[in-house]
Formats: sequence, C-alpha cells, structure tokens
Amino acid sequence: MANLLDLPVEVFQMITHDLVSSAIGNVTVPYQKSRINDVWKLRAVCRTFAAEIERNVFSQQPKESYYDCYVLRRLVMKRLPQYMMQVKRVPGNINEDFQARLQRMTSYILQKLDIKDEKQRADLMEKFYLCLGRIIDEYRLRHALWCNCGPSCFHVNQNQQNTELCVQDRFCSALMVEAHDVLAGVLAELSSTERDTFFGVLPFYIARTLGDTKSIDIILRYLETRPSPVQVALTNNDGIFCIQTIIYTTLASDSGTTAQTLLDYYKKNLPPPERHIYNGWVRSATNQRSTQNLHNLRAVLDFNPGGRTRILRETILTVCACGSHEDVQEVLKRVEDVDKGTVLNAPIFIAVRSGRIAAVQGCIQAGANVDLAVPSNIPTLHKDTITPLDVAMNRNDGYIAEVLIKAGATIPHISQWPGTRRVYKVLRKAVSERTKVKLPDLRKFQHMSLAERKDIQY
Ligand SMILES: [Zn+2]
Repeated sequence: MANLLDLPVEVFQMITHDLVSSAIGNVTVPYQKSRINDVWKLRAVCRTFAAEIERNVFSQQPKESYYDCYVLRRLVMKRLPQYMMQVKRVPGNINEDFQARLQRMTSYILQKLDIKDEKQRADLMEKFYLCLGRIIDEYRLRHALWCNCGPSCFHVNQNQQNTELCVQDRFCSALMVEAHDVLAGVLAELSSTERDTFFGVLPFYIARTLGDTKSIDIILRYLETRPSPVQVALTNNDGIFCIQTIIYTTLASDSGTTAQTLLDYYKKNLPPPERHIYNGWVRSATNQRSTQNLHNLRAVLDFNPGGRTRILRETILTVCACGSHEDVQEVLKRVEDVDKGTVLNAPIFIAVRSGRIAAVQGCIQAGANVDLAVPSNIPTLHKDTITPLDVAMNRNDGYIAEVLIKAGATIPHISQWPGTRRVYKVLRKAVSERTKVKLPDLRKFQHMSLAERKDIQY
C-alpha cells in the first residue's frame, strides 16, 4: 500500500473516486449491490485511504444514489455525523433546506455555548447528529435528507418561513446536545399552543431516548412554576409535554427512576388521571418475564393522589392477566385484606379465573387463603359457598387445580367432581396421594349414578 500513497495526490484521489463511483454506479445490477461494501471495507488499508473513500461516498453522491442503493443508505444511517459533516451542499446531493435548518440549529447551540475550539465543536456536532439519528424514524429521516419536494417539504418547512430559528428548534437543539442551561432559558419562551416540534418528536421522548434525566427534571421544575391551567394544557395529550404517554413508555422499559419522577410530578401538580389511563400504566409496568422493572410497578402502585389508593379490582385483574407472580405479590402487599371480597373481586378468585399459574402462585405467596369460601355465583354447582378449587374445577382448569391442591386446598368429595378428563385426573391423583385410596377411573366414574358416587368412602 506504500506504493499507492507514493502516487501524486491527484492520481490517488482519482483512483479512489473511480473505485467508489464504479461500485455505486452499478447498483442496478443486483449482484453488484454489495460492491460498495467491498470498497467500504478497503478503508482498513490505511487512514488516508479510509478518509478518501469516506469522503467520496459521503460528499460526492447525488441523492438518487441513496434512493437506489440500500447499502449506501445503511452507511449513512450508521455514520450520520460523518455524512452530515462531509456532504457537500450542492443541489442534487442533499435536501438543502433541511440541511440548512440543521445547520442553523447547530450554529445556534455552538454560539449559545460559546464553543470556539475545533475539537469541542466537532464533538458537539457529532452529538447533535447522533441524536438526530436516534430520535427520528429512519424512513422520515431518509425522506428529509434526500427528497425532492423542495421548499414545500413537510419535514423542512414547518415553522421555517424565514431564516430565524423558531423556538421549538432552539429548544430541540438544546435538548439534543443536553445543554441544560440553554434549555432552561428557552423553556420560558414556549407556550401551550405550540405543539409543533421538530419532526413531531416530543421533548420528553428526546430526553428519554438520550437517558437525559436532568433535562426531564428541568422541564418538570419549569412546569411547576406555571399556573395550574397552563400546566394542564402543556402536559395533556395535545400539549408539547404530553405526560401520560411518556409515563406509559417509561414504566414499560426504564431501569432508572424517571417513571417515579414523572409520577411524583403528576401526583403533586395535575388532576388525578382517569381510571383507564391509570390502568394502562399498571398494564405497562407489569412484566411476566422479568422482575427487572419491578420498581416501576411499585412506583405506579404507590401512586395515590390525595392519599387515596388507586388499586381497584381492575388493577388486580390487569396484573393477574399479564404479570409475574412477583408482580401479583406487589399489588397484594398494598391490599389491606387479601381474603376480602366476593367471587368476583377477591384476589384469589380473580387469579384463578385468569387461568395463569403465575397469578395464582402470586396470591398464594401473598398469603391468600386457598380455601376461601364465598357465596356461589355458579348455579349449576348446587352449593351455597364455593372455593377457588371449585371455580378451577368448573373451568376444567387442571393446571390451576393442581397449583391450588399443592398449596393445600381442600378437595371436595368425589361426588362433586366434574366428569372432565383433565381435572378428574388431577383430583384423582391428588386424593390417592393424600389418602392412599384408589378411586375409580374416569370411564367408570362417568357411568356411575350420583348415589353411587356419594357412596364412595375415603
Ligand atoms: Zn420532502
């Protein structure tokens, strides 16, 4: 390779240019689509060569190349900062208006932070463009970069009547590079009527994507200084700081304390959410496979505006339907008496009807009585009171019956058993283990009269 570098610079550049163009120019031939990949790999040869290839791929290609070639698009998306800093502002290479908008945003923040050092400048730009790639959906970004809509482009011209940077773009710039002081300054200029943001990406979403809890904090502290109706307008579903949605997403996946912070703000400053919203949060915080985000479930279960618990029958229903046994235990820890309720709302009955072993186990671990007897709502059973096992038997749910029996549930006399295979098998096995009595098999049982069944003693 030393020989290659010995070439006069112009010749070296020409060779690289030809290499890249021939690889990109032939993309219409399917098997050659990967040639750009091969050329890209040549960057490993040496740094000069790498820089030259990158410059050729990123700065010299017309928009169409990116539309035509998937591999080229991938390269840009993977190395967005490099592309954005190298692409030449030539008509036909990039959507100029969009590029101009981004440049205004970066210039603004560089100037606000008073950054003059070249290295710091480059670092900040890199941060900005990396964030851009993370917060904006790839399809939209692709359109914004290389479309041919001109000045009418939806992604470019919203709020862009003149060259003055609108308040949303300034706010976004500060958020994207986590410039907290600038952010606090711009916040005061925002008003509730201005939902329109950069690409429709909302501030909380950007901060959350970056894991920037400080920005979320700054926004919440700012909101707290506003009169109550303004806070409500800014945080409702049409507002720029739409809080219910971000709580929902945060509860589902964040390992930190962001959900707690947001819920604390909500509790203190906003009217209590509607039941279905709260229940949606609970649903989002339950996870049947992992206990990693149990702290989020705790946060939402402890959310009690005005000191009133929000844990209702539907909360238990939700957690029994979607949660792990740890989740169920967390809810029941907050229920005064786990054995209180009817066949419709006592936790153990809800769990049994959910048909989920995890739910029943959670109840048992939380100390629920497996023999809890409540007035019956199943007329066909001819019983005044029924137990969880009765319900499981009635539902022909052998798995749940087994869990209840293992936890010590009393098994009713054989004359009360259903003649369905799965449950019968479980009950018969359990009785033979408990009493060493051999009961009739299912076929024989099915042919017995009720009187005969009642005669079986054990
Ligand atoms: Zn467009």
